[in-house]
Amino acid sequence: MSNVLEVNRLVKRYGDKIALENVTFSVKSGSCFGLLGPNGAGKSTTMKIITSIIEANEGTAAVFGKDIRKEADAIRRQVGYVPQDITLYEKLSARDNLTFFGELYGVRGKELKTRIDEVLKQVGLSERGDDAISTFSGGMKRRINIAAALLHKPKLVILDEPTVGIDPQSRNHIFQMIRELKASGVSMIYSTHYMEEVEALCDDIAIIDHGKVIVQGSLDHLLGTYATQAIYMEAEGLTQAPALPGVNKAYADGKGWVLECSNVLETMGGASRILEERGLPVKSLEIMRPSLESVFLKLTGTTLRD
Ligand code: ADP
Repeated sequence: MSNVLEVNRLVKRYGDKIALENVTFSVKSGSCFGLLGPNGAGKSTTMKIITSIIEANEGTAAVFGKDIRKEADAIRRQVGYVPQDITLYEKLSARDNLTFFGELYGVRGKELKTRIDEVLKQVGLSERGDDAISTFSGGMKRRINIAAALLHKPKLVILDEPTVGIDPQSRNHIFQMIRELKASGVSMIYSTHYMEEVEALCDDIAIIDHGKVIVQGSLDHLLGTYATQAIYMEAEGLTQAPALPGVNKAYADGKGWVLECSNVLETMGGASRILEERGLPVKSLEIMRPSLESVFLKLTGTTLRD
């Protein structure tokens, strides 16, 4: 599978502050690539460099094999960028806003009208096209912002934290739209600080923190290599975590116990035997799903929410 984006050793400084330090990653054609990191990690800076809104101090990036410094205009015609800030005219209708953005992208006339109908459908707002943006919720405005970036049928869509501060319904529409875009062969870069979004949407991931890519790879690879293995057990009368071989750490969670271990099946077997021996009624005994949160914790020593 070829790459639609290659980012190589990007460095960005704002005065004395180093916002990006040798950021390197690549995005496979037709995939949804997750850029995951806490606020201030450097996600927006990376995306603004790729879309030529700002320039890197060092390093290179190529979109569809084209150097961003040499062929920015050609790249722009194939890329849809959804910035974090919403930039819409409140008094105009959704349709009029989209007409304005479509013309900026060079789409005109009949074709633009058709595309506006299509993108409104894609973001689930066909019924609201003629309403003024001022009557829209924050989530709906974000969806129109996304629609604006799709008008020229980009082959790569870059979404900068598209779900921050929006209602669950809009979030679901955005997720569905991303899945449909992916099914139609569009490649995407999706930045977020919500791990569950990356787990739900992305094929490959780079975890970024303090301007550095800490780790990257497929979701399965990262979870398989770095995520903490654990089981959860809850039983009536189980007032202490049982001492079991192979358990690295045990702590209370809700009404039960989390046992971090290196071999979940072995620990599961041990837990099951202890509960049977003691005759304690079992409420829950399960393998915990490995999470990106534990990957981040293992690699940085902090949680993503810190
Ligand atoms: P993220 O998108 O992951 O939240 P950003 O790329 O916005 O992170 O920011 C990375 C770092 O660069 C942060 O420390 C931020 O404060 C800093 N930064 C971003 N933009 C500017 C700017 N225009 N001037 C100075 N510092 C900036």
